[in-house]
Amino acid sequence: MSDTTALATRLRDITDRIDAAARAVHRDPDDVTLIVVTKFHPSSLVRDLHALGVRNVGENRHQEASAKALECADLELTWHFIGQLQSNKARAALEYADVIHSVDRPSLVSALTKAWLDENQQCERGPVDCFLQLNLTDDPGRGGVQAADLLTMAQSVLESPALNLLGVMSVAPLDEDPARAFDAVAEASARLMTVAPDARFISAGMSHDFVEAIAIGATHLRIGTAITGNRPVSG
Ligand SMILES: *Cc1c(COP(=O)(O)O)cnc(C)c1O
Repeated sequence: MSDTTALATRLRDITDRIDAAARAVHRDPDDVTLIVVTKFHPSSLVRDLHALGVRNVGENRHQEASAKALECADLELTWHFIGQLQSNKARAALEYADVIHSVDRPSLVSALTKAWLDENQQCERGPVDCFLQLNLTDDPGRGGVQAADLLTMAQSVLESPALNLLGVMSVAPLDEDPARAFDAVAEASARLMTVAPDARFISAGMSHDFVEAIAIGATHLRIGTAITGNRPVSG
């Protein structure tokens, strides 16, 4: 089987499993957006995925994302930035990122807002879609907003003319039952909607836990290896 045939097979298999998981909990599969995470893979993989109908791709490192988006500028794609974003990269990230999943601190909101205002991005693109990333652990080093700070952070995003708050994003901790972690995500989502009723989207679910994520209402799945195969080793 050629690489692209194998890729097509895995993509179809995962899409089928997403549809089945959605139907099993009486959800419309069309309400679930599949983002294929292409990190560490060359832009040729993004091209292959595009040829197979994929229109949403995810990247977690700024430099790599920036280069790949440029190499694929001729393709109609929505680029999701899903990694930690340094404030000093905010301006550059706005050049290619259509959706930022990892807004998690006031300094990043300020940096994105300032860059957006300075660069006249407001005329070119309108507000940038974003998610508030939740930290589901007690370790502040992990990145993400602690539960106690969620509504304060939401307020600062809502006040920014640069950002359009879509909802919450999370990565389930590896050492925990994903279903339990996702219950906390669903709860945070409900809490967020008390102050931002339109921010109803949930970015959650990866290769090994997307079924559980769909069960708690995930609307944006970020799936890498289950579709792309193992990532090439990279720094
Ligand atoms: C790499 C990554 C994913 C995809 O992980 P897989 O296990 O390969 O599906 C999803 N979300 C984030 C934030 C990632 O960094």
